Amino acid sequence: MTNILFKATILTLFPEMFPGPLGYSLAKRALDNNIWQLDLINIRDYALGAKGHLIDDKAYGGGSGMVLRADVIGPAIEKAIEQTGSKNIIYMSPRGKTLDQTLVKKLVEKQNIIILCGRFEGIDERVIEEYNIEEISVGDYILSGGEIACMSMIDACVRLLPGVIENTNTLTEESFVSDNIAGLLEYPLYTRPENWKERTVPPVLTSGNHEKIAEWKKEQSKAITKERRPDLWQKYKE
Ligand code: SAH
Repeated sequence: MTNILFKATILTLFPEMFPGPLGYSLAKRALDNNIWQLDLINIRDYALGAKGHLIDDKAYGGGSGMVLRADVIGPAIEKAIEQTGSKNIIYMSPRGKTLDQTLVKKLVEKQNIIILCGRFEGIDERVIEEYNIEEISVGDYILSGGEIACMSMIDACVRLLPGVIENTNTLTEESFVSDNIAGLLEYPLYTRPENWKERTVPPVLTSGNHEKIAEWKKEQSKAITKERRPDLWQKYKE
């Protein structure tokens, strides 16, 4: 089947970490069904030096830690470009634009992306300039490598592909998706049993009145967003 909708080519020092969590559940099924494709490039294959071990070096100007060399990362990126024909190169980086659902949608539309996972202190700045690389962060905290960040980002992308989630309503009602509950956080969820440790389910949910239920969900979403995420609430009101 040649119906691949999304292709991710990952450059990493640890290709054996993949597919990792992407090899389970929805993402795995979609991978098995060729809805998306995962390709790996081992940065170590581009190592330099007599022993073929050289990938990083001390930072010019001092500072702790090692930096991945431009003459190692560069050829790895060029291989990825040649292999994929893609010009969309992303570097997972705490300095990047913070990933959100809007950015996830944009990445899915690109269909064919190359993702560079950093390690140590990061990569030589000239690589970012040379290949016009987009930096993306998964949040304001520091991970020890780009692989887990990359996996989160891909997981978010893959679940938006048609056919990955059977019930498309699940998608539009989801937190952060701007269509249905328009940029609000999700309302509380309940399932059986109806009575648990003397805690009962809100009666409206078992009333069968669909209009009232929709109204309740929206009100709950609004209240939770207002309380927990004033930033999202502000955007919603605009
Ligand atoms: N010296 C850097 C941190 C390097 S962490 C700094 O202070 O900003 C090592 C690698 O982990 C980075 O090259 C990057 O690829 C990845 N990484 C760490 N935190 C990340 C985050 N929040 N989002 C995306 N990638 C991250």
